[in-house]
This record gives sequence, C-alpha cells and structure tokens, in this order.
Amino acid sequence: MRSSSNSAETLGRFKRWGAELYLALLQLLLPAWCAVCQGPLGVGSRSIVCGACWGGIRILEPPFCPRCGRPFWGSPLAHPPSHRCQACRTRAPQYVLARSAVLYDRDDPLREILLVFKHGRRIALGPHLGRLMASRVVDLFGERAIDAVVPVPLHRRRERERGFNQADILARVVGKRLHRPVLHRAVERVRPTPPQAGKARDRVRNVRGAFAVRDPARIDGRSLLLVDDVLTTGATVSECAKVLMKAGARAVLVYTLARAL
Ligand SMILES: [Zn+2]
Ligand SMILES: [Zn+2]
Repeated sequence: MRSSSNSAETLGRFKRWGAELYLALLQLLLPAWCAVCQGPLGVGSRSIVCGACWGGIRILEPPFCPRCGRPFWGSPLAHPPSHRCQACRTRAPQYVLARSAVLYDRDDPLREILLVFKHGRRIALGPHLGRLMASRVVDLFGERAIDAVVPVPLHRRRERERGFNQADILARVVGKRLHRPVLHRAVERVRPTPPQAGKARDRVRNVRGAFAVRDPARIDGRSLLLVDDVLTTGATVSECAKVLMKAGARAVLVYTLARAL
C-alpha cells in the first residue's frame, strides 16, 4: 500500500514539473505581451511586438528633398522634384543621396521599437526591421548602381557593450534583397563619439575624424550603399561618406530605416 501511494506521489510531482516546464517553454516561445505597448500579443504571434504597433509605423512618402530625403509637408505640387531643402543648399552632403523607409517621430511606435531593439537588446527585432527596409529599397533606389552594402559602424567598445551593431543586422537583410555583399567594418569608428544631440553644427563637429577605412582595396571603385538605423541631421552618414570617397569609393548612397523629423 505504502509503495503505491509513494509512486502516485512521484507521478504527481513529475506531472507538476512537466506542466511547469511546458508553461515555461510556452512563455519562451510565445511571449504574451507586446514589448512596446504591453498590450496582449495574439496567440501564435511570432513577433514580440503586436500588430497594432507594427501597423502604426508610417511609411515615408514623397515629397521629400531629392538629396537628403528630408520630408516636405504639404502638396507635392508645392515642391518641384528638383527642390532641395535648406540644409542641403547651405551645406551639400558628401553622399549622392539619402533615402529612408519610414518616419521616426516622438510619438511613433517605431521609436519605441528601436529602443527595445537597441537598448533592450531584443536582437530578434532586427530582421523584421531589415525586411521593412528591404521591401522599399528597389522603389527608393530604382536602377541606381550599387556594388556593395556598408553598415555604419559603432565604436568597438559600444558594440561590445550592446552585443551587436544594429546597422550590421539591417545591412544584412538589405544586401540579401539586392544580392550584393555586405562589407562589415569597411569603414570603422576609430574614435568613440557621444550620442548625437544638439544643433546640426555640433553634430558635424562631433563626428569629424571619427571614421577611417583601413583596407581601401575593399571599396576601391565601388558604388556603396551605406546603411544605418536613423538619419537625423545626416552628419554621421555624411562624414562616413566623405571618408569612403577619400579612400577610393566611386559613389556613396545612404539608406536608413527611419528618418527623424
Ligand atoms: Zn504593441
Ligand atoms: Zn536635403
């Protein structure tokens, strides 16, 4: 009698463990709450961000500055296609042109998604964001020649702290879409720079001399698509483009996931 009650107890314990393990695995596989808005995720959702948050991302549509991609508000008729923005007329960027897939504003869910991705280290969001870029890259760059994709680098120390470079992950998806190689570390950040803030002029000063090309043979004579997550004033990508051009690139085009307003 005694041994049968023992085995029933053992069996019960195993069942409880089994159920707990099952729930823990389920939670790992299906996080129940959106990492951005904390709303419920649909059952079977394969993303950690809910459909409403993804759906709230705003595509960047024309009219925008033909050079730097800065959005213009109002009717396209008010801005002829050749009309460049004030910033580009004052200081021409070092790249041929810049385009962004979506908008980035204080209230946009994209801002939160990027925070969760970069600072919350939810690396799984990277390929989703990369696909957002990949889905628009042909529309935005058309037939322009692109030989290789180059991610905007983080300083090694920053990359070690974060565990990854967000631009690397985005560039990989874009490169795959274009069937072009990704040249990781083709340009390197040789000086750590404080996070970009403040006026455009300060941002230009902040990144001056921060980048270098160690192996010019990798980029010599090639048209490059420089990839980053957000373009604000464009000081960072312009400085990268300058260094790449000096090292022998034929042309530098810029593609960012998002364009800050
Ligand atoms: Zn959400
Ligand atoms: Zn512009």
